[in-house]
Amino acid sequence: MSGNRTSGSIKNMFSTGTLHRFSESRLDEEHIHTILTAPTARFIPLWKNQNLFAITDPLQPAFLSKEETDRLLNEGAEFVFLGMLEEIPYFAFALPDTIVTEELFGDSRAFKDLRETGALLGQEEGNLLAYARAMIHWHHTHQYCGRCGNKTISIEAGHVRQCTNPACDLKHFPRTDSAIIVRITYQDRCLLVRQPIWPEGMYATVAGFLEPGESLEDAVAREVKEETGLTLTNIKYHSSQPWPFPASIMVGFTAEATSMEYTLDQREIEKACWLTRQELIEKIKDKSIKLPRPVSISYRLIDDWFRKKNKGKLSQIK
Ligand SMILES: [Zn+2]
Repeated sequence: MSGNRTSGSIKNMFSTGTLHRFSESRLDEEHIHTILTAPTARFIPLWKNQNLFAITDPLQPAFLSKEETDRLLNEGAEFVFLGMLEEIPYFAFALPDTIVTEELFGDSRAFKDLRETGALLGQEEGNLLAYARAMIHWHHTHQYCGRCGNKTISIEAGHVRQCTNPACDLKHFPRTDSAIIVRITYQDRCLLVRQPIWPEGMYATVAGFLEPGESLEDAVAREVKEETGLTLTNIKYHSSQPWPFPASIMVGFTAEATSMEYTLDQREIEKACWLTRQELIEKIKDKSIKLPRPVSISYRLIDDWFRKKNKGKLSQIK
């Protein structure tokens, strides 16, 4: 689950467990064909950016066999080789938006948003579904060449798209948009902020996208200055999290503010508060503050600060 520590680093939900990507094998078409048609191969379908789940208690990801996958698809369907997990090859593929999912899967399986269901999954499953979702989204949005406008095709086991115009021939690679997220403290207080678009009562850490020409630390300092007016010191890397909603990586930092005086950019942040650990406990208990989902790095950053003074875990507050 989220927040495992391995080899001294922090493993956030959706990051890699023990999946081996075998990236060197993507160019070997014969080998990819062999594992694609192996009886052990498992397939992860995506439909409208959602993953397939077996409706059990607890909810489980639904992986399909080759036989079942072939029944769903026309000839020439594109597959993405994700990697091997315990000798099992995993592939992702897209189902057309037009299918009627109930007709194909009955009521025992259904497509759901990974953002809503991620908390119920283990590290391996969460990673596989997030990786599959990110790759299929990239294919979906890169059907045409950005340079010449011709069609692109999937090559290298789904990890490259190539322009079909011989005069262009440009290769397109999967993109990940970098975003920063930062927990800001001042002495024994942590800053929580609220964006107007969030569900009622939800507060979290400051986040924003990296811009070209910036280091990650530059983006942390700029976003916080723009949105809160605060000046930061001691900006330090914490951990990161794949966030395929639709195509980001959240790079987490901690930092200290030089004062508590903030001025909010109301378009981005409508409210902010500096809370001690005890005040946070009280506000969670009286339901005036809700934190983000425990699978998110934002929750992880806040929980990590909270635990430092032996108050237990945030999840224990009832
Ligand atoms: Zn082109």
